[in-house]
Amino acid sequence: MEADLAAQRLLMPAPRSRVSPPPWLSFHLHGRRIFFNPVSLAVGETEAEISAAASTSVPEFPLTPPGPPAHLVLNVTHACNLACRYCFAAKYWEAATMTPAVAERAVALLADGPRERAITLSFFGGEPLLAWETLMAGVAAAERLGQSQGRRVHLHITTNGALLDADKAEYLAQHGFSVLISLDGPEDIHNAARPMRNGGNSWRATMAALAHLRASGSRPAGRRARVTLRGTYLPGRAGEAADHGAAWERANLRERCEFYGRLMDSGYCAGFSLEAATLTEGGAGRTTLRVDEEGLRREYHEVALWYLDRLRRGRPPGFFHFNKILERLRRRRPQVTECGAGRSYLTIGPDGSIFACHRETGTRIGHLDTGFDAVARARWLDNRLTQRDACRDCWCRYVCGGGCRQRAAELGRPLSEPDPDACAVMRIMVAECLWLLLHLPPRPAGGKCAQLPVSPSSYRFLPFPGCKRKP
Ligand code: SF4
Ligand code: SF4
Repeated sequence: MEADLAAQRLLMPAPRSRVSPPPWLSFHLHGRRIFFNPVSLAVGETEAEISAAASTSVPEFPLTPPGPPAHLVLNVTHACNLACRYCFAAKYWEAATMTPAVAERAVALLADGPRERAITLSFFGGEPLLAWETLMAGVAAAERLGQSQGRRVHLHITTNGALLDADKAEYLAQHGFSVLISLDGPEDIHNAARPMRNGGNSWRATMAALAHLRASGSRPAGRRARVTLRGTYLPGRAGEAADHGAAWERANLRERCEFYGRLMDSGYCAGFSLEAATLTEGGAGRTTLRVDEEGLRREYHEVALWYLDRLRRGRPPGFFHFNKILERLRRRRPQVTECGAGRSYLTIGPDGSIFACHRETGTRIGHLDTGFDAVARARWLDNRLTQRDACRDCWCRYVCGGGCRQRAAELGRPLSEPDPDACAVMRIMVAECLWLLLHLPPRPAGGKCAQLPVSPSSYRFLPFPGCKRKP
């Protein structure tokens, strides 16, 4: 293991020089030799394999003008009933709630979208269930618009679930919501980071919400909400975590995955994500945690072993980040951006401010009353990784896509500067996924490259051998 880590350390730093990267990389990880072409995204175990699939011509990604908004987020309130230790919205606790009238005006922004595209509306906060009337007004406006234009409506909500009773669960189900529930893992882990504002046990309240959502749509012909879980962990060393009010010594990633796996197997959710809090804490005015890279490498390898074990037992792993990275690698589809924030993806704050990103801080680009601030919006329009200095030569750039730009904005840095902590976590995950790829696909006769292009449909329904259920 130590030799593996040492070899990986040599690989990990993102070269910032202007020297062209070699056509492929080679390194040892967990006892396997891995060759990886960072441009063609080919992976193999020998130089012969990788050269057969080699392409070093850099893909071109022309910049397209932004179209009308396709995905709108309503930050319906900054208020919250929880006091999560790493919350980027913590400083908003005393702030306003959106009125139903503002929600309706915001939804009107989606009217210019192409008729063939669905209307996509998300509710975010703070805790959006605290603004239930506004949420229902937004849903009604979106559904009216969809009906008048003959467009499908996709609705999403991100919530801690603590206020979700049976009636609200039924409402979300009947309107076809996809529901992202913040749940950090088992009870002790979750409650250490996500106490109620009054100090109470939020885990039990969130688990009750999951039960309501699972029961929703149980009537004949009823719809059922699609539920995904979102966990957050502190990636720093124990001492630093203690400075932030946390009491754990490690991120416990595998323990969390096993917990989520049990919930998936019991029908509570379809999958989960698990993110480092380093991406969010700056907005709460806290100092940045330095990522404990060595500790996280060990922990993410434990996650990779868990992921592999799930697949071998015919269970979908459901881990969003590994699924996403593996999908990009298996399809060999280079990724040029992380998101369309400020382009076709917009957020409306409680007072009608327009933000590029739902995390708001540092991303204000206009107001519903006055329209876009062209200067403020301009810096969001080119979202390609080629605009970020450190990304141009990074070995995992076309898997990563260039990272989150809001993190730089909230720290008051140019959007061209990626967050080194987030980069460290991304590189660890990509390395583990490269290792996983050597174990997952069928090994074709003749030792061809491990990554063969697969059609989207076959990938979706049978992602890897041994997985009998749709992920
Ligand atoms: S944001 Fe992604 S592509 Fe850019 S340097 Fe970091 S890991 Fe590499
Ligand atoms: S800027 Fe970052 S947080 Fe905002 S949508 Fe993009 S990736 Fe997500």
